[in-house]
Amino acid sequence: MSPDGLCVWCRKPLGERAHWYATYCSRLCSDDAAAERRKPAIGFEAIVIATAEICGVAAEDIRSPAQRSREVTDARHVAMAVMRRCGYSNAAIARLFGRDRSTVIHSLRVADEGWAERVAEAVGVSRQERAA
Ligand SMILES: [Zn+2]
Repeated sequence: MSPDGLCVWCRKPLGERAHWYATYCSRLCSDDAAAERRKPAIGFEAIVIATAEICGVAAEDIRSPAQRSREVTDARHVAMAVMRRCGYSNAAIARLFGRDRSTVIHSLRVADEGWAERVAEAVGVSRQERAA
């Protein structure tokens, strides 16, 4: 168990039933912590700019949480999906977009695969990297 009985990632209490060796409250936290350790090779800005170009919206609109039009929201989902492929954790994506993790998880589910593929290619994410 972590020394203070809290999840080492999100700092929530692990609970009484947690195993003596537990350090994360959930599989999600454990995955996020692992993704964070892998240092993404491709920058947030590069992904946002490539997404903007391919989806035909402005990069600053993708970054701005206030922009909620369908086009921009779709593009933001694509940017998040590409970031995940590039090794960003859900927590890091949430932080960069000023959103919470559950929003990110939803976005990853609904992101357009075809667009995500094109953006991933544009920023040079190799198939090997994506498989990792
Ligand atoms: Zn946690």
